[in-house]
Amino acid sequence: MFTQNHITNFSSIETPFYAYDIKLLRNTLKALINAASKDYHIHYALKANSNPLLLSEIKNAGLGADCVSGNEIKRAIENGFDAESVVFAGVGKSDKEIEYALSQNIFCFNVESIHELKVINELAIKNNKIAQVALRINPNVDAYTHKYITTGLEENKFGINPYEFEAVIDVIKILSHVKLIGLHFHIGSQIQDLTPYKNLCLRVNEINKWFLQKGFKLNHINLGGGLGINYKEPDTQAIVDFEAYFAIFKNFLEIRPSQEIHFELGRCIVAQCGSLISKVLYIKEGINTNFLILDAGMTELIRPALYQAYHKIENISKNNSEIEKIKYDVVGPICESSDCFGKAVYLPKTNRGDYIAIRSAGAYGEVMSSKYNLRDDVRSVVV
Ligand SMILES: *Cc1c(COP(=O)(O)O)cnc(C)c1O
Repeated sequence: MFTQNHITNFSSIETPFYAYDIKLLRNTLKALINAASKDYHIHYALKANSNPLLLSEIKNAGLGADCVSGNEIKRAIENGFDAESVVFAGVGKSDKEIEYALSQNIFCFNVESIHELKVINELAIKNNKIAQVALRINPNVDAYTHKYITTGLEENKFGINPYEFEAVIDVIKILSHVKLIGLHFHIGSQIQDLTPYKNLCLRVNEINKWFLQKGFKLNHINLGGGLGINYKEPDTQAIVDFEAYFAIFKNFLEIRPSQEIHFELGRCIVAQCGSLISKVLYIKEGINTNFLILDAGMTELIRPALYQAYHKIENISKNNSEIEKIKYDVVGPICESSDCFGKAVYLPKTNRGDYIAIRSAGAYGEVMSSKYNLRDDVRSVVV
């Protein structure tokens, strides 16, 4: 939480910027490590936030990396992650990205289609490498989350569907330079109710058995990520309940002793430690509502415009809870009507120049920033 006390530190930094609470990140990583079994392999999903200031902390906590592009692999390695800890997912890996990943000897490609398997095999032959692959399987489990971040249903573009399994193993058997080592699943993001994870375990158990019956002893089961955070109450639940999350897998997943379990968590590690800090430029009185016009917009944080996502908004220049509240629509400066951080937000009477914190913005915030309207690159600081 950023309060009036921080404003003196902020005054030398031009707004808008991301402020990261490093202590909270460290405590979150500690809680994660304590809750996970010692033999779990946890890969941090760089796409949630690839700021080097955070990556070094995450790497030092002992996590591996989950990447969805060649540049993310490069970023991970540059920041000290071992290539042998890198898993690489994505429905559209380019030849250049695959060749780069092969050259770095990454741990595993999470392969999303039969066609991709064949292309990885060709490129591995060309580069004289053996590619370790896991099949990204579409388990047809509903994550009950926003439709743009649900990924594990048949209608989604991700993964290989069960009706394709026979065809996949026929292809695998004839490919000389790919080695099938595991199965991968990722059902979606911002999953708060844990029931979908239980359903995932039950599906994984069936699929795991099916592959064994077909003669494939696969040593790696990767359960993806997606654990959600509390956007409504970022302070009462700053660290997610990792114990409850891992308990689902301990209770419901049936694996063989030789099998290793992998996870790929992003949002739940970094979301709460980041706030987008902005200043009020103007206050515009409307007929039914007053607009607070900020110097931050959808170019810095697109989640509200893209997914109708909720972020808690605070006036940290006046964060005395006693002050009477007024209703505002909090908007950015960008020439789009969707450039709105919140409608009917109750805040203390706000003035030009007040600092506004948009909370829980550490994941899918800075990484999705854009230069639309020729905006400056977004700045960031650690606190
Ligand atoms: C995005 C993604 C993750 C991380 O998701 P979070 O919701 O941030 O935990 C993990 N695995 C894959 C394959 C992803 O695409």
